[in-house]
Amino acid sequence: MENCIFCQIVQGNASGAVVYQDETVTAFRDINPVAPTHILIVPNKHIVSVNELQVEDEPLAGHMLTVARLLAEREGINETGYRLILNNGPHAGQVIFHLHLHLIGGQPMRYPMG
Ligand code: AMP
Ligand code: ZN
Repeated sequence: MENCIFCQIVQGNASGAVVYQDETVTAFRDINPVAPTHILIVPNKHIVSVNELQVEDEPLAGHMLTVARLLAEREGINETGYRLILNNGPHAGQVIFHLHLHLIGGQPMRYPMG
């Protein structure tokens, strides 16, 4: 998707603080962090939201969680705790329509956040 900012970051065509990339997912720092650690983990292929996930995407969806765990360890927040958020659709406040898992931590958080 040429007009998708997250596709452009995945492809290295837009500035983004990429912290992890492999064959199926890319992770980069959120441009407007709400906590000391705020990383977005996205599939390399354009998937709009959880609504569009297919059964064959299960390994990809599971891998996003594995990468979240890895990055939580790297960020040193795996023991203090972190929150994983998948906003889906208008009521959840999804504004970027390329699936992304928020990894947020580094400070105590209230629930819900917004
Ligand atoms: P959501 O509300 O779940 O769609 O969250 C979208 C997130 O993407 C927000 O936290 C934004 O700060 C973040 N964001 C938007 N544009 C960029 C960008 N170019 N690089 C990094 N993060 C971005
Ligand atoms: Zn995209």
